[in-house]
Amino acid sequence: MIFHVLTLFPEMIEQACRTSILGRALEAGSICLRTTNIRDFADNPNGRIDDYCYGGGAGLLMQPGPVCRAVEAACGEYEERPRVIYVTPQAEVFTQAKAEEFAACKNLVFLCGHYEGIDERALSRVVTDYVSIGDYVLTGGELPALVMIDAISRLVPGVLHNDASAEIESFHDNLLEYPQYTRPEVFEGERVPPILLSGHHANIERWRREESLRRTRERRPDLLKTAALTSMDRIFLDELSRREELKASGSGDEDIWKTEEEK
Ligand code: SAM
Repeated sequence: MIFHVLTLFPEMIEQACRTSILGRALEAGSICLRTTNIRDFADNPNGRIDDYCYGGGAGLLMQPGPVCRAVEAACGEYEERPRVIYVTPQAEVFTQAKAEEFAACKNLVFLCGHYEGIDERALSRVVTDYVSIGDYVLTGGELPALVMIDAISRLVPGVLHNDASAEIESFHDNLLEYPQYTRPEVFEGERVPPILLSGHHANIERWRREESLRRTRERRPDLLKTAALTSMDRIFLDELSRREELKASGSGDEDIWKTEEEK
């Protein structure tokens, strides 16, 4: 997969992508990165690509000509025209499901705005997807593009050392991941849950599933509405609710909040 980023600050993208796991994936050729400096497509020799907004108001806007020419030049590098993603706060928020959808593409073009953004006429001509990374406004599209490139890259075969790890992480099945532990076995008096040391694979899997359900219910209950739940999962969640009601009514036994090992 080739990530092609159109930006006024290519060095920001290059530096971030050439570090750590993405850097290794680039070196290994599992992913490729191209950047285009939109300034190279300016109408004037001084490289200025922004101007005042018609109708007044503070701030400068990126002009349509340089943006359209930069996108056309980038798309022209590929046999099949790639999707052109404009990162913008004015869009649906990026999710793991969206990352999975984009990971199936051959190549992707990211268009990063700056200042007040980009002239609407350029956007309506070249953009295929509008994607936000959250309901807040950043100074430029470079960090959003990097966030998406990182999330998508992890799903590209060969990028992660162990491809299975992308499949069992948070948001897979719309559930958050269970708590995890590494050495030492006891840290400041707190032990790793004994079941994880039991070697009993089926029990460990069940414990992880239940912790995943418990955590999602506590931290992101909205996700449970669309999670792929089994009948066992539903029984477990109903049981948690029942215990919570008992506790609230004062008739509950404190031990019901503890795992079998903790009792
Ligand atoms: N005037 C624009 C508005 O109110 O929607 C905001 C422009 S913002 C200062 C500059 C650029 O940063 C945008 O063109 C976009 O590319 C990027 N950007 C800012 N916040 C973002 C977000 N939450 N998600 C994705 N891109 C964002």
